[in-house]
Amino acid sequence: MNQENLSSSKENSSVMLLTAQNLIKKAGKILGLSDEKIKEVIIPDRVIEVKIPVRMKNGLLRVFRGFRSQHNNVLGPYKGGIRFHPQVNREEVIALSTLMTLKCSVAGLPFGGGKGGVVVNPRELNPEELEQLSRGYARAISEYIGEWKDIPAPDVNTDSRIMSWMLDEYEKIIKRKSPSAFTGKPINRGGSLGRTEATGRGGVISLLTLLEYLENKKYNTVAIQGYGNVGYHFAKIAQEKGFKIVAVSDSKGGIYNADGLDVVAVKEHKNKTGSVKGFPGAKDISNEELLTSEVDILVPAALENVITDKNAADIRAKIIVEMANGPITEKAYSILQRRGIITIPDIVANSGGVIVSYFEWAQGLSGYWWTEEEVNRKLEKQIKNSFVWVYRFSQDNDIDLKDAAVAVALRRIVEAQ
Ligand code: GLU
Repeated sequence: MNQENLSSSKENSSVMLLTAQNLIKKAGKILGLSDEKIKEVIIPDRVIEVKIPVRMKNGLLRVFRGFRSQHNNVLGPYKGGIRFHPQVNREEVIALSTLMTLKCSVAGLPFGGGKGGVVVNPRELNPEELEQLSRGYARAISEYIGEWKDIPAPDVNTDSRIMSWMLDEYEKIIKRKSPSAFTGKPINRGGSLGRTEATGRGGVISLLTLLEYLENKKYNTVAIQGYGNVGYHFAKIAQEKGFKIVAVSDSKGGIYNADGLDVVAVKEHKNKTGSVKGFPGAKDISNEELLTSEVDILVPAALENVITDKNAADIRAKIIVEMANGPITEKAYSILQRRGIITIPDIVANSGGVIVSYFEWAQGLSGYWWTEEEVNRKLEKQIKNSFVWVYRFSQDNDIDLKDAAVAVALRRIVEAQ
């Protein structure tokens, strides 16, 4: 395979898994670890595969497939989201759980890495079917999760409502309250203030920290792929901080306006029409055009492997903020590196979500709730600290931010073993 052909979801996931594993191998070499040690970290502790039967509205029984990969728990209970997506598969959840192990470690959290998923297009289900599927998944994995075992959270196409169904089902099984067994819950079910915005907010903080290091105040225009929870909050907070958001997209397509988009109005348009496309005053563009648009900062905030060796040479941004998990393939990454494009790696850039999940978990365990201002202040401190560790490590060892982030993460894990 010379050019990366990521046509099938299996192939797509293999590429992401290999990318994550090769990053660990490379970081292991930087740290002088033995091949044996590296291999031990790479292999997931356990991968659970479950069936979830759901009685559909039409009376027929549909059987869904679900996974939970528990990658590594050296630093604490497994932690990571659950995605609902038609392309979910075993390799994908292993890859994503590997990234969670690294993400929790580099963020300095007392968690290991996990990730789950259900093979489903949630848009095809009505709310009752979605609830039954969520409850069924929680039942199926109930014996493997818990506040000190494995703590799921939202991910692609899952949200606080789904977490609350899952927690409710789990608490029925264990016959006691256990709010910290899930994070990303609604506020009235033990959620934390600031959790919904946390991933986007953390991304903007890491971008601002990088720009401080670069002593650069000129980089200002932004294109964002993905307008779900992560993309939207990144756009909103970045705009508040003075960045100009000129292009955004969702799975149906994108929009561009060189004068800047009103991100809140775009969200309202998407809520009304189902897509950002057709937003008044903006030009419709494709997702591919968005990725290669003339901007200073590119923010892939949707799915994995969107920047490949097919489009890496055409990227015109100077900085990429990886808000999705694994949006750049290994081959693409080396092209970007050669071209001098700076990437803030996913395990730092999008760690705001799991950092506030940690705050939510801690609040739930202590039964003491913090103000939003407190949450945001602590988030800023935590993500800045981890960015600074990574940045210094990259300077001291003359390596880029991605290799440095993985090395910092890996070092913490092997030191704890
Ligand atoms: N799904 C998010 C991530 O990929 C959040 C995980 C969590 O809060 O546990 O980082």
